[in-house]
Amino acid sequence: MFEKNVKLVNDVFKEYYFKHFELIHVPTRTSEREFGYQKFNEGMTRHLSIKDDKELHLLLMTQVPSDVYCSNAYYSFPNLPMSEKDWKGADLIFDIDAKDLKLDCRTSHICCKCNSCQNIVKQGINCSVCGSTKLETISVTCKNCMSESKKEVVRLLEILTKDFGIQKEEIKVCFSGNEGFHVYVVNSDYQTLDSRERADLADYIMFNGIIPETLGMNKQNNSKSTLPDVNERGWRGRVAKEIFGSKSKRAKIVQEVISGGYSVFQAKLEDWRQEIGVKIDPKVTMDIHRIFRLEGSLNSKSGLSKILCKDLENFDPFSDACLLGDENVEIIANCPISFKLKNKKYGPYEKEKITVPKYAAVYMICKGFADIN
Ligand SMILES: [Zn+2]
Ligand SMILES: [Zn+2]
Repeated sequence: MFEKNVKLVNDVFKEYYFKHFELIHVPTRTSEREFGYQKFNEGMTRHLSIKDDKELHLLLMTQVPSDVYCSNAYYSFPNLPMSEKDWKGADLIFDIDAKDLKLDCRTSHICCKCNSCQNIVKQGINCSVCGSTKLETISVTCKNCMSESKKEVVRLLEILTKDFGIQKEEIKVCFSGNEGFHVYVVNSDYQTLDSRERADLADYIMFNGIIPETLGMNKQNNSKSTLPDVNERGWRGRVAKEIFGSKSKRAKIVQEVISGGYSVFQAKLEDWRQEIGVKIDPKVTMDIHRIFRLEGSLNSKSGLSKILCKDLENFDPFSDACLLGDENVEIIANCPISFKLKNKKYGPYEKEKITVPKYAAVYMICKGFADIN
């Protein structure tokens, strides 16, 4: 990021951290967590331990990080190198990101920026100005991306509560501050699972690795197949709902499915997996040493906050997580995609000098669509 942009964004971030101390707290079991942070145009500082809110606030005010992170893991010695930390356990974490959902809307709100000459092109493999192939994809998340991501979160919550018996109070959903959601499970039964066990759990949630037999399909003798009922628990019930829709059609559909044979069923199973498997990022769930963006902190990819969604259904990230100041700033914007913040539409802009509220200016600067004038 250009120095002149860094100066503005730094000032705005500092103001945020000063004004919104109430949103930023150290998580429970503070002394056992690893903290880390990044500053604009600088590398990551990791393996820190922080005692309390006071110390965290001091770090925010003195360092003004572009991003702040904290481990979901608990260690005996969080500030030692990884091999000496002595891992004690970790909260379960799930990451749902709009970019992994393969949504049709996505092509309408991504573009590429040339890292060599800063030119912005709608799509392509080469920069249309300098020919460079160093293009960076930028996405301006849309409303549809967010509502589809929320649906995945809801389906994840259903599995966690119904199939795993986790209490609602033990689950926390946060907007990531850019394109997705982080779901935290704070339940001691799951904290000591190792990476392999977490991978199995992720597979279950994604509905991976299921075989036709699990759903009652008989390979040797199709007619002996007994397909699941919509009232069954877990995936059998969910698949039944997907196959039969309503009870009235069941008998006819069972006949059709069974007569289609084993291999047709197997192919369909893959379609159902795409349809009803929850689209979490398994690598995130498996990683027991990762540090995650701290709740209440700003995301430098957007200037939006990572915040707790108390009411997921009505949560609007483009308003509820947009908490920067609204004083006017003059910028040069080259932003081919329009976006909405706090219910106001911005753009598209073609290399224009414009005056917009700070939060919109920072959003465009963080995305790489604007420079301070
Ligand atoms: Zn270029
Ligand atoms: Zn979208």
